[in-house]
Amino acid sequence: MKKGILLTVLMACVIAWNVGAQDRPLQIIMIGAHPDDCDIKSGGTAALFVAMGHHVKFVSVTNGDAGHQSEGGGMLAKRRIAETKEVARRLGVSYDVLDNHDGELLPSLEIRLQIIRKIREWKADVVIAPRSNDYHPDHRYTGVLVQDAAFMVGVPNVVPDVEPLRKNPVFLYFQDNFKKPNPFQADIAVDITPVIEKKLAGLDAHQSQFYEWLPWIGNYENEVPKDPAKHKEYLLAKRVQTPNPEVRKTLEKWYGKSRADQAKFAEAFEICEYGTQPTEQDIRRLFPMLGK
Ligand SMILES: [Zn+2]
Repeated sequence: MKKGILLTVLMACVIAWNVGAQDRPLQIIMIGAHPDDCDIKSGGTAALFVAMGHHVKFVSVTNGDAGHQSEGGGMLAKRRIAETKEVARRLGVSYDVLDNHDGELLPSLEIRLQIIRKIREWKADVVIAPRSNDYHPDHRYTGVLVQDAAFMVGVPNVVPDVEPLRKNPVFLYFQDNFKKPNPFQADIAVDITPVIEKKLAGLDAHQSQFYEWLPWIGNYENEVPKDPAKHKEYLLAKRVQTPNPEVRKTLEKWYGKSRADQAKFAEAFEICEYGTQPTEQDIRRLFPMLGK
């Protein structure tokens, strides 16, 4: 019992020290199209921010009500919202699901305003979203919607009931493998090796996706282990990429060669040309896990 209390006090000190390096906790918002996108792209980075005392919100722009082969509509949306609540509990993030239909997302004004509202309410320092050349229309339009919000978050007459941001956030893109019209550029890479278990725990909460829907649509249902004890191993093999040469180079830039060589898993981000353009010093302040 005493050991437990001591550990809690120690953890609180570590968090206070880390937050203290910056005058207040950082506010990070990650915006995906579906209730599992942020988890896939940056669950590890989110876990690292949270461990350092910073605040992370995941937003799903659609309610995920098309993401299953035998369930659908409101009941599926409810199931997926419950899964995001479990992710929030496991990762220590806040998770919002916007009530827009899955598979039918368009870059409308109405949804742009929803996104402006979310970014402002979170008082975001950093906003992360997909690039707009993804294969999935919902991902693509989420990218466009966030780009369309990037300047407007500071305009007081747009969404006038929520205070505009006086400092434009830094906007980043999640990593992807699409090459046309231009490939992803790994400007920032975070070593997530120490929190890989947390990332997997987040993915594991999306039972409807990783063990049912994605194997069905990808025709690999027979690969899903029947034994839940083997699920994490399966997720690691199937859903977690090892760093490619470009990401390795970026890890080296931010962490130095010896730490980069030891990194088994990483999440990378590209700086968007909209929003505040960060200096190297800004990036180290906004991504304190990168070290000095
Ligand atoms: Zn998705």
